[in-house]
Amino acid sequence: MTNIFTTPIFYANGEPHLGHAYSGILADIFHRYSLLANSESCLITGTDEHGLKITQAASKSCTEVEDFVDRKSASFAELWSALKIDPDVFIRTTDRFHAQFVEKVWKKLRDKGDIYLGNYQGQYCIGCEQFYNKRDLVDEKYCAIHKTEVQSFEEETYLFRLSRYREQLLEFYTSNQDFIIPTFTQDYVVKQLKEEPLEDLSVSRINHKWGISVPGDENHTIYVWIDALFSYLSAIQKAGYNPDQLKKTTHILGKDILKFHAIYWPAFLLALELPLPKHLIVHGWWKVEGHKISKSIPETVVHPKAFQTELSNDGLRYALIKQKPLFRDGDLVQDSLKHVINADLVNNFANLVKRNNTLILKQLSGEIVGITDLDIECRQIVTEAEVKLDKVINGYQTFDILIVSQLLNQILTELNRFFHERSPWLINKGLTREHVSSTCFVVANVVREIAILYSPIIPSLSESILNELGDNRSASLERGCPLLRDISIKKVQSHFTRV
Ligand SMILES: [Zn+2]
Repeated sequence: MTNIFTTPIFYANGEPHLGHAYSGILADIFHRYSLLANSESCLITGTDEHGLKITQAASKSCTEVEDFVDRKSASFAELWSALKIDPDVFIRTTDRFHAQFVEKVWKKLRDKGDIYLGNYQGQYCIGCEQFYNKRDLVDEKYCAIHKTEVQSFEEETYLFRLSRYREQLLEFYTSNQDFIIPTFTQDYVVKQLKEEPLEDLSVSRINHKWGISVPGDENHTIYVWIDALFSYLSAIQKAGYNPDQLKKTTHILGKDILKFHAIYWPAFLLALELPLPKHLIVHGWWKVEGHKISKSIPETVVHPKAFQTELSNDGLRYALIKQKPLFRDGDLVQDSLKHVINADLVNNFANLVKRNNTLILKQLSGEIVGITDLDIECRQIVTEAEVKLDKVINGYQTFDILIVSQLLNQILTELNRFFHERSPWLINKGLTREHVSSTCFVVANVVREIAILYSPIIPSLSESILNELGDNRSASLERGCPLLRDISIKKVQSHFTRV
């Protein structure tokens, strides 16, 4: 069964920033690893295009709302292509078939009695498109995320009987301890479910035309979050799968949209008697001078393309995962991103590959074949690498890609030490040919494995190294595939430019 990975369905009220790129890169890394290890994987992304905030942004820029969302959605699509991310489905909530899907969902929930017409009085943050209780606000009137004053509303609205699903949600969390990664985030959600009141959720807005109309009641439009969350399912359908595929679906999301994914989304699915997703991977934020990168705080907006031009695509991807744990926040400092790229990718990896492969090509006619007997130093470095490569795979499986990058870099540091101590370039100064060829043989073979396991993170550099080695079978991922294989190099061309 195919694994599915999703990014959030991004709100198309502005241009994408580095925070969006980060979510997309993470989802792409897990998707690429899944392709590598299981050969079947599907990547879903898209844009959420309805709601008050969108109409406001469109009128501010004097654009018709339809044109506005077309443009914003296109700029997300362009970003993915610039970052070499190739989604299998790009869903738009303004797609007609998505609207039909959401209408069906609404009717089912209403027929079951899970949605009813009532009144809602509450504090609304337009930035979040969400009602808040006073206890959730700063000084009872400011949104904790946007720091802006919320508006008081009382209006007719449809409500979803969220309270009905509290027990079922708690049962689900008890029997699926690793549903949310990291665990401390799941603990937080469970505590909230146990201790805080779970009021019924307002799921429609009256007199807002830009959205999907409530079937049978044109005065109301369906709540943008219902609209957005169900785009995961309409996208799964668009990819040719049935809703059962949710069981193999992993959602990647920022911690700011945790509640929607950890409480509302599972509750809607429980109400519809559909399976729940496999995992939620909840990542922390990249911050600029202490502030979350956000469209509503313009000075924090960092354009991903500018970073990518400066750091290269592989460099940007690598630095974003190496410079902070996925689950924590981190401050974006361009100089330290550059430093880690030069130290790890240029010095530790690409330069070693270049020196080793050049030696093989010039001194050993490009071929090292038939080596069966390795000396103790060679055997030791291979064994140590194998142990760490196993841990790399475990890191991917547990979504700990910081560990993955640290381990791969550690293997490279050890391999560099080995290469320097054995100094195979002194071939014409008294070293035996056997010493030189076994050294280069071990380095080339371990490098191949590293390039394969790095490929979800740094696809371009890995690909050029694997092309040079002419072999991309992985011993760690394929059982029965020997780590040490004959080496044949025809050309040395892989290179990584210092940033
Ligand atoms: Zn807000």
